[in-house]
Amino acid sequence: MTRRKLVAGNWKMHGSLAQLAELDGIAAAARANRRVDVAICPPFTLIGAAAMRGDLAIGAQDCHQNAKGAHTGCVSAEMLKEAGASLAIVGHSERRTDQRESNEDVCAKARAAIGAGLIAIVCVGETEAERDAGRAVAVVEAQLQGSIPAGAKAAELVVAYEPVWAIGTGRTPTTGDVAAMHAAIRAKLGALLGAEADAVRILYGGSVKPSNAAELMTVANVDGALVGGASLTAADFVPIIEAAA
Ligand code: PGA
Repeated sequence: MTRRKLVAGNWKMHGSLAQLAELDGIAAAARANRRVDVAICPPFTLIGAAAMRGDLAIGAQDCHQNAKGAHTGCVSAEMLKEAGASLAIVGHSERRTDQRESNEDVCAKARAAIGAGLIAIVCVGETEAERDAGRAVAVVEAQLQGSIPAGAKAAELVVAYEPVWAIGTGRTPTTGDVAAMHAAIRAKLGALLGAEADAVRILYGGSVKPSNAAELMTVANVDGALVGGASLTAADFVPIIEAAA
């Protein structure tokens, strides 16, 4: 099974209208590397302007599970779609920690994103203590069990494996550990989704840089990357797109 690679940038709480100029170089690299899907997920406030700037796919970093209602400060998947988004990250570890999002919350958000016509990027990953205790695979399997909507199709679902201890730290797992985890994720997706699991893209995330992207992309079952810090500038992000091509 060959899967199109996806390289998605997560700007987190960074960016400004001025910084959207970076998207021009990123969009040019996306056009030059048609075998790779490329997306940038800026903060909510920049989604509309980012989507109008050109043909680059734009995503959100979260969505509410309901389409509308009395939820002050929240944004629905339908609103994101209308603003020009085509993807939504859900269940990032920073939200699982800061906003105490449960697997049930993440599953509801993923279902809402898919229902609105967005691709849901569902994030999973163990903490360092969990890895040290030998529980990394079990933790990630439990997150998948609780977070993946039943019946999801590969065209609308992406999984991002992001070990919490690798995010923003400059540390990455060995390629052997990445391969083992991605194989375990593929197997768990098979149990949850049946034959559809073969086509679901599994991204690696956590300190992906121009210097390590090429090696990570060669690992079996690594179908792209979810990139934080190195997605903020075209200078850093374009080489990662090229490494995936
Ligand atoms: P990082 O973040 O690339 O800055 O480590 C990745 C992420 O949190 O998605």
